Amino acid sequence: MTGKITVLYVEDNRLNRLLVRRVLEADGFEVVEAESAAQALASISEKVPHLILMDINMPEIDGYTLTNRLRQNPKIQGVPIVAMTANVMKGDRERTLEAGCDGYIQKPIDVDILSEQLKNFLSEVGDGG
Ligand code: MN
Repeated sequence: MTGKITVLYVEDNRLNRLLVRRVLEADGFEVVEAESAAQALASISEKVPHLILMDINMPEIDGYTLTNRLRQNPKIQGVPIVAMTANVMKGDRERTLEAGCDGYIQKPIDVDILSEQLKNFLSEVGDGG
């Protein structure tokens, strides 16, 4: 892939957004933030990212619902959606997959491996060139 990899990070918590932006930018990603589902939809209509990092617990529209909605958009078909959730109860992983996520990263995030985790999702899904 040439140029920067763009990650859309959908997250209602400002401190999480700051942390993830700092980590991913340090590793050469371009980070676009959305603090709500509405902002995410607006952002995607402007520019389709290479990967979407999706917080699950958000007020109003949660990450499951938003992912479900995004998967109905043909422009997003090939874009990996990675859930981020502190919910680690049995069934949560299945629920993220059912909603249309490609996988999930457990919160709290491990800043040392986050970029590597995202690159793995990009190589799994976006293997078209
Ligand atoms: Mn949240």
